[in-house]
Amino acid sequence: MAAGKLTSEEAEEYKMEIKTLEKNKEKISLLAKGIDASYANTIRRLIIDEVPTMAIKFVTFDKNTSALYDEMIAHRFGLVVLKTDLESYNLQEKCKCNGKGCSRCQAEFSLKAVGPCNVYAEEIKFKDQKIKAVYPKTLILKLAKGQLLSTEGIATLGKGKHHTKYAPALVYYRSYPIIKINQNEDTSAAVKVCPTHVFRLTGKKANVVEPLKCILCMACVDACNNAITVEGSKTDFLMFIESYGQLKHKEIVETAISVMNEKLDDFGKALKAVK
Ligand code: SF4
Repeated sequence: MAAGKLTSEEAEEYKMEIKTLEKNKEKISLLAKGIDASYANTIRRLIIDEVPTMAIKFVTFDKNTSALYDEMIAHRFGLVVLKTDLESYNLQEKCKCNGKGCSRCQAEFSLKAVGPCNVYAEEIKFKDQKIKAVYPKTLILKLAKGQLLSTEGIATLGKGKHHTKYAPALVYYRSYPIIKINQNEDTSAAVKVCPTHVFRLTGKKANVVEPLKCILCMACVDACNNAITVEGSKTDFLMFIESYGQLKHKEIVETAISVMNEKLDDFGKALKAVK
C-alpha cells in the first residue's frame, strides 16, 4: 500500500454519509452518519469561529446630537447583519494591500438622518450596493425633532473567533436517538411525559412516530421504569445550522470544510518540517 492511501476496508470504516433532513430559509437539519462527537464539534466550531462574514468595524461621527453616545450607536452599527459576498472581498490579513485597507477588503458606508425619525439599518448606504442590511427594519436609534446624525465608516470581513458579530450561524448537534421499547410492558406514561411528542399511544403502548424530535431528556425512561431505553448513537449525529442571514447554508458549510482542509494542509506541512 502506498503511504497515505487507505485500503478499501479502511476506507469503508471511515465512510461518512450526510443527508439533508429539512431545509428552509432559516435552518438546515442534517443527519451525519459515520462520524463521532469530536468531528461534529469540529464542524460546529469551524462554522462559528472561522467562516468569515461582513460587519461594520469602524464608525466616524461627523455630527451626533441624538440622546445616545457615539459609542452606543457605533456598537449598534456593529451588530447590523450584512449580506456577505465572499467572492468579492478578502479578509484584511490576507489582502494584497497587507491590511492597509482597499476596495477588496473594506466597504465604505455613510448614514445621514434628521429627526424626528426612526433610523433603520436600511438607511446605511454602502458604496458597494451589493452590501446591505439583511434585516432592513433593524432599529438603530430614534431621533427627536431637530436632532442630527451624520456618520461614515467601513465594514470588513471578520471571523467569529475575533468577535461574535462575525459568526454566520447558530450551530448545534446531538446524537441520533436509539429508542427501544419493551412491547410486553405498559409504556403509556411515555406519551404524557415526552416534551417533544416523539410517541403516539396505541392501547397501552407508546409507539415512536417522530424519532428525530427526541432530545435525549430520558423522561420516558424514568416514567416507564426502564421499559423504554434511549441511547444516543456514538456514530450518527443530527446537526442543525441556523444562518443569521449573511450567507446561505451551502456557503457556510462549504467554507467551513475548505477552512478545515487548509488547516490540515498547514498541519501536514508543519509536520513535514519537523526533523
Ligand atoms: S428521551 Fe425525552 S425527548 Fe426522547 S423520547 Fe424520551 S421523553 Fe421524549
